[in-house]
Amino acid sequence: TSFKDLGLSAPILAALAAKNYDTPTPIQAQAIPPLLEGRDLCGIAQTGTGKTAAFALPSLMRLVASARPRKPGTCRMLVLSPTRELASQIAKSFEDYGRGLNIRTGVVFGGAPINRQIKMCAHGLDIVVATPGRLIDLIEQRALSLRDVEIFVLDEADQMLDLGFIHALKAIDRLLPKQRQTLFFSATMPKTIAELGDRFLTDAVKVSV
Ligand code: AMP
Repeated sequence: TSFKDLGLSAPILAALAAKNYDTPTPIQAQAIPPLLEGRDLCGIAQTGTGKTAAFALPSLMRLVASARPRKPGTCRMLVLSPTRELASQIAKSFEDYGRGLNIRTGVVFGGAPINRQIKMCAHGLDIVVATPGRLIDLIEQRALSLRDVEIFVLDEADQMLDLGFIHALKAIDRLLPKQRQTLFFSATMPKTIAELGDRFLTDAVKVSV
């Protein structure tokens, strides 16, 4: 399969060509078609497998297909990541893959001044990539609302639990609209992680690489 066969649009194909991506990785080939259809997905995949593009590319396609004006203090897609390094990398990937698509991505994490992040949220973003603690701070300060989230990605679920984010994840779950697309990724899937996944996912396609 090629990226074109997977149903990606010309601007995204151009962005991939600019990054010298030639062929989809296995997780990209398996995940992109059901994600383009709006299905939920439960993926067992490590970093390095091309997981970020597997969730970023179809999400960008869907956001563009139903483009609407940005509303201050809201976002249409939320990606949760356990660490600031990973969150920054994911945000950069969205910017690379979404070049020319008029999609605005912001990254928020702890340990950095919150005021800049509040201002960024006030501007209105399409995609927010966040670590859980700082996301909750921004919500409590009324800088960001999750009420308009259409696509929710929980990345590295096993690391999230190891880092003690379970309560934060449950709190965030309560603030997300019930009607949404959810993508859940973990490098491992022991019972506790699978149960966490069940809480977030509806009729998910399962992918393992
Ligand atoms: P990830 O697993 O998302 O962290 O991606 C691992 C690395 O593979 C990143 O440096 C990506 O830029 C790169 N990558 C992702 N998909 C492809 C692809 N289809 N072809 C070549 N490189 C890729």
